[in-house]
Amino acid sequence: MKRREVDFMIVGQGLAGSQLAAMLRREGRSVLVVDNGNPAAASRVNLGVMNPVTGRKLKLAWKVDQVFPFAEEWYRSLERELSVPLFEKKNLIRFFIDEKQKRVWEEKRDRPEFQPYLAEPQQWEAYLPFVHAPLGGIEITGAALVNVEGLLSRWRQILRQEGALIEATLNLRDVEFENDRVVWRDVSAEKIICCEGFRAVSNPFFSWLPFSPVKGEAMVVDIPDLPAERVLNRGIFVRPEEGSRFRVGSTHLHRDFVEIPTKAGIEQLKSKLSDFIRPPFEVRKIMAGIRPTLPDARPVIGLHPEYPQVAIFNGLGSKGVSMSPYAARALVDFLLRGRRIDPELDVRRFC
Ligand SMILES: Cc1cc2nc3c(=O)[nH]c(=O)nc-3n(C[C@H](O)[C@H](O)[C@H](O)COP(=O)(O)OP(=O)(O)OC[C@H]3O[C@@H](n4cnc5c(N)ncnc54)[C@H](O)[C@@H]3O)c2cc1C
Repeated sequence: MKRREVDFMIVGQGLAGSQLAAMLRREGRSVLVVDNGNPAAASRVNLGVMNPVTGRKLKLAWKVDQVFPFAEEWYRSLERELSVPLFEKKNLIRFFIDEKQKRVWEEKRDRPEFQPYLAEPQQWEAYLPFVHAPLGGIEITGAALVNVEGLLSRWRQILRQEGALIEATLNLRDVEFENDRVVWRDVSAEKIICCEGFRAVSNPFFSWLPFSPVKGEAMVVDIPDLPAERVLNRGIFVRPEEGSRFRVGSTHLHRDFVEIPTKAGIEQLKSKLSDFIRPPFEVRKIMAGIRPTLPDARPVIGLHPEYPQVAIFNGLGSKGVSMSPYAARALVDFLLRGRRIDPELDVRRFC
């Protein structure tokens, strides 16, 4: 059988695999992507929100001043390359969930590092007719919405047209090594890069990584009487889509790793939404996905310690939309230029 030779074989076409494939191609490298098109992959059900001030404790996202500008530049350039609208800056209003969170913010709000992320003027009060928010909130700038669905489907179409996509499940146990190259079916590659999201838990090369996946449920709802100029948050995100359509999420469940929404999870989302938003809503769709999370909540990139033909890009957790361009760049710079990987992202931190 005639071998097809490529520089990189990529397993998975979620956010990780897609960004990586796009960057490698721009560098003039040939890629072949193998993906089984799981419709419930985290990248196909997420909310697409880039949020610089995160979590209950209102912390700045990791390396926010590098990661966010890089992501914006990357998505805007992809937008031009793929001719699909991908990136929209949108302020986010975080309404306080309790007194404790409000106090946390009162301690932080004058710190210089937060000033670039505070909208001026603050307009959260204009939303009070539409939300229950007795403790007030903060309006954050530097947030954005990414059309992940558009990115993935357009990118898939291009890969398919160019014969650079195999729609199949790749079992890493079927991979062989020949003359410093990696071989799967009739494809021979310099390296194989594993971007399988939470399925990495059963990857025989990386089963030693301490993945602790987190299931998330979300809903698509119609809320005709809610303005769509801001992303809203009070315990859950309400993310504007087209017209009166919003995406609402998410739950965090550390068990039940099947990508099917649970009754309890959806009830929880509905109840949080009706406690938060005043206008009536109608649920159009429910969904679930599994976040590929590591204990330190950082992505993981680099080479397998014993098989240098095998690499990984994973661990995007709950921040894949903002983190994936930055982490993909770091991996590409390492693979093509030998640039040192930030120890906080390096797979060797778990060796
Ligand atoms: C409900 C929910 C809401 C979220 N909201 C946000 C948000 O607003 N902002 C944010 O930044 N992040 C959010 N996230 C997190 C984000 O979705 C993830 O960080 C990101 O999608 C992970 O991307 P990935 O490519 O690593 O994995 P995945 O999206 O899981 O992609 C893996 C791909 O690999 C394929 N695959 C796996 N194994 C194989 C194999 N052996 N052979 C072939 N193909 C294979 C799968 O089919 C899939 O296409 C959310 C997640 C969930 C679940």
